[in-house]
Amino acid sequence: MRVLVTGGAGYIGSHTLLELMGQGHEVCVLDSYINSSKEVLNRVRTLSNGHLTDHEGDVRHTAALDRAMDDFAPDAVIHFAGLKAVGESEEDPLGYYDVNVGGTLGLLKAMDRVGCGKIIFSSSATVYGEPVYLPYDEAHPTQPTSVYGRTKLMAENVLTDWAKANPQKTAVLLRYFNPVGSHPSAQIGEDPSDIPNNLMPFIAQVAVGKRSHLSIFGDDYDTPDGTGQRDYIHVVDLARAHVMALDYAASHQGARPFNIGTGQNYSVKEMVSAFEKACGKQIPTKVTPRRAGDIASMLADASRAKAEIGWSATHTLDDMTASTWAWQSTNPNGYD
Ligand code: NAD
Ligand code: UDP
Repeated sequence: MRVLVTGGAGYIGSHTLLELMGQGHEVCVLDSYINSSKEVLNRVRTLSNGHLTDHEGDVRHTAALDRAMDDFAPDAVIHFAGLKAVGESEEDPLGYYDVNVGGTLGLLKAMDRVGCGKIIFSSSATVYGEPVYLPYDEAHPTQPTSVYGRTKLMAENVLTDWAKANPQKTAVLLRYFNPVGSHPSAQIGEDPSDIPNNLMPFIAQVAVGKRSHLSIFGDDYDTPDGTGQRDYIHVVDLARAHVMALDYAASHQGARPFNIGTGQNYSVKEMVSAFEKACGKQIPTKVTPRRAGDIASMLADASRAKAEIGWSATHTLDDMTASTWAWQSTNPNGYD
């Protein structure tokens, strides 16, 4: 298939490019590089030994979208481009709605213009909000607690209505849990441009000596060791889910959400211990108050993805920590 990948230079997008190219898909990237580096695409080209076209452009700009659609004529789109920092979304709600919702709307219009009717969308487990029960299945109520989560839910609704009005269209809504880890080559990985918001890249930067210690955001949660639990998913497993979702989209119509997680969760303290084992160093920690808006525990029921897409996670926690350490220690300054 010819697949246009918006946000393809980002963390999850770059790993997905390799999986797509490995399966013989033709790919084209549309990215503004607001949160990524063009160097990623050079590394993807080297690792895949394949052909990859790219357009620099913003998904909110009609001309950029039309140029990519006309030049590449995609059969399907994977839509990663978006903003993802929960805290920042509270400070800049309009910016987040503009990119995450407005960008999705513009993209669908551009797809309609060239008759492209299949899209895989990067959604998030944050659409669920405070758990009514765990593990979350896809029927769990959606009550996101952040602006970021609401932009993702709103984009899901736009995609769902688009597919409903056009019976031959397909929107696969992948609700990611917590992506971590790196490609086994250690040549591509997560490269936060600022102080990391997320646990795993923060731990990795402590391990490599860029930060003095990890702040543990609360140890008084109702969890076995008092620290927050998350369902961490290896980014290569997540990347594979997109390739399998494309196969699903080829023979299904309508919009459908799928949880992409492992069905196993780990606490902050368990993640620190696992990382210490991988890097052979001690990770200094300090317990601080809870982070506003954090949920005690998240866990995926990913049985729908297994039953309908044929996807399930195969990587272990050790794979996640070892690959993160390999990436961070080989590239202490990321792509710089
Ligand atoms: P990332 O920031 O590494 O990648 C996003 C890419 O989109 C970047 O290359 C960025 O330059 C590009 N981009 C941003 N705004 C753009 C715009 N207006 N036009 C064109 N390109 C633009 O993030 P990621 O971790 O790879 O996440 C990819 C997607 O998955 C995002 O939509 C994110 O919300 C979603 N998601 C991420 C996580 C996570 O924890 N990483 C969890 C759930 C969902
Ligand atoms: N966390 C932490 N210190 C950090 C970053 C995160 O203790 O510097 C905790 C956070 O409170 C949560 C877990 O690690 O319990 C995962 O947080 P992350 O931001 O990676 O993912 P999300 O909260 O989006 O699920």
